[in-house]
Amino acid sequence: MPRPTGSDVKSLPGIIIDEEKIVSSTGALALPQIPKKLVVIGAGYIGLEMGSVWARLGSEVTVVEFAPDIVPSMDGEVGKQFQRTLEKQKMKFMLTTKVVGVDTSGNGVKLTVEPASGGDQTTLEADVVLVSAGRTPFTAGLGLDRIGVETDKGGRILVNERFATNVSSVYAIGDVIPGPMLAHKAEEDGVACVEFIAGKHGHVDYDKVLELSIHILRLHLLVKLKSRLRHLVLSTVLGSSLSWQTVVPRRLMMLKG
Ligand SMILES: Cc1cc2nc3c(=O)[nH]c(=O)nc-3n(C[C@H](O)[C@H](O)[C@H](O)COP(=O)(O)OP(=O)(O)OC[C@H]3O[C@@H](n4cnc5c(N)ncnc54)[C@H](O)[C@@H]3O)c2cc1C
Repeated sequence: MPRPTGSDVKSLPGIIIDEEKIVSSTGALALPQIPKKLVVIGAGYIGLEMGSVWARLGSEVTVVEFAPDIVPSMDGEVGKQFQRTLEKQKMKFMLTTKVVGVDTSGNGVKLTVEPASGGDQTTLEADVVLVSAGRTPFTAGLGLDRIGVETDKGGRILVNERFATNVSSVYAIGDVIPGPMLAHKAEEDGVACVEFIAGKHGHVDYDKVLELSIHILRLHLLVKLKSRLRHLVLSTVLGSSLSWQTVVPRRLMMLKG
């Protein structure tokens, strides 16, 4: 039974996570052996992070993603560079592709996939499938409805700028409230919330909350570097043959690896 509060994996219609053949990130961290073939559904941070770990341990990893790019929220150019890095780890990508059927009746799993906009279907075989197509706030079992705490349509607890809910003395932070589901964001929420409760002034500057993956931290340094270089190049060498498009990939090559 998963713990309440925080967030839980979002499953897909017709896919039942048994944490053996079809796993969430929780199951992917506890596989008893290295799967020969691992299919990851969803090219977000968590799926890529887990996929990269297992690829480097020897699994053949294929990532199926509905969108045309990996980590759609990431800067496009950095995302492409990230994909190349993962491909060097022998990870394969099926972008603009959706999973439409899953068969677990045999030894492994057979996945039916087709182009996102419809078309010819193909079958992928896997020993293990990791479902990482998003996360959802998890508050089941807390009895919020019994005390009248308001939630939105997505099940997130509604709070004001002081992290207070509509019920006196009940506060909420982190993955269960609207906003990015990130560890450092939850931590900042927590600090500010306790400051408010103590009658002090709390503050979280959400513009400064990086979309940061602990495992792929360097990527975010690259995004920062790219935007700094763009600014620098545009403001100082505009007019010369140097442009940020030519400068950045070289810097990316130097930093990656
Ligand atoms: C595989 C994976 C990789 C991730 N990688 C990153 C990353 O690289 N970078 C990043 O920023 N974020 C990452 N995250 C997201 C990050 O873990 C969450 O955003 C963060 O943990 C949210 O904090 P939280 O306090 O809201 O919830 P949680 O960390 O889930 O904490 C909820 C807590 O509530 C406790 N609890 C349960 N029931 C009750 C109860 N009835 N009463 C009181 N307490 C209760 C639980 O025991 C638990 O300790 C990752 C998440 C996953 C699943």
